[in-house]
Amino acid sequence: MDTHVHFDVFRIKDEIEAVLARARAAGVRRLVAMGGAPEGNALAADCAAKYPGEIYFAAGFDRYLATEPRELPALEQILDRPGAVAVGEIGLDYHYSPETRDAQRALFAEMLALARARRLPVVVHSREAEDDTLALLKEHAAAWPGDPARLGVLHCFTGGPDFVRRVLEAGLFVSFSGITSFRNADSIREAARLVPADRLLVETDAPYLAPVPHRGERNEPAFVADVARALAAARGAALEDVARQTTMNAELLFNIRGAT
Ligand SMILES: [Zn+2]
Repeated sequence: MDTHVHFDVFRIKDEIEAVLARARAAGVRRLVAMGGAPEGNALAADCAAKYPGEIYFAAGFDRYLATEPRELPALEQILDRPGAVAVGEIGLDYHYSPETRDAQRALFAEMLALARARRLPVVVHSREAEDDTLALLKEHAAAWPGDPARLGVLHCFTGGPDFVRRVLEAGLFVSFSGITSFRNADSIREAARLVPADRLLVETDAPYLAPVPHRGERNEPAFVADVARALAAARGAALEDVARQTTMNAELLFNIRGAT
């Protein structure tokens, strides 16, 4: 299961059938279409409506909207649509936008409150904002009224072993992307070995970050099989075990009924 795909960046409206066919052929049977802004949220919900049981979606207001006007009722309406499984992508990025820190924190807190009100897990982005991300997630966890196993996931993990320990302590799943396969990513592979099998997810973050041997290509859900292969190699585990476990974990986190 590919837990993180950006169809809005893909611009694949006419290609989605072919993309899904390649995913199915690679053994990737489900995916979560990721929102983050009004158009992306609507497209993700539309994809889920068209392919029920195969595409699910997350919707939210991501960090780019921190200093923009935003309409929470519109987001609430999208989250009422069938196939909504998470609030996302949301989070903090001080690498690209350090000047909007305060506004980013306020928006992230607002999105976490929305997730609590709906008992939906969160899909979280964090870059050069580890301390603030964890502080807000800990407050969220303390107030979380739902199943503690379904708090959320830190997506596209790019931190080292210390950060992964703190993310696990906060109660989140950790999702690994194609970066796990990059030659210079030893600290991510080291972190990958520290995550218990029942807290691991895999994702492509397509169309970004295509894994080896597809580097330089546009990433797509079929390639999550290569991410799983890199993760299995890093952990010294069998590919089938990583595939089965990450699928079960995603089903638990996103509350998608059984199917393996
Ligand atoms: Zn993303």
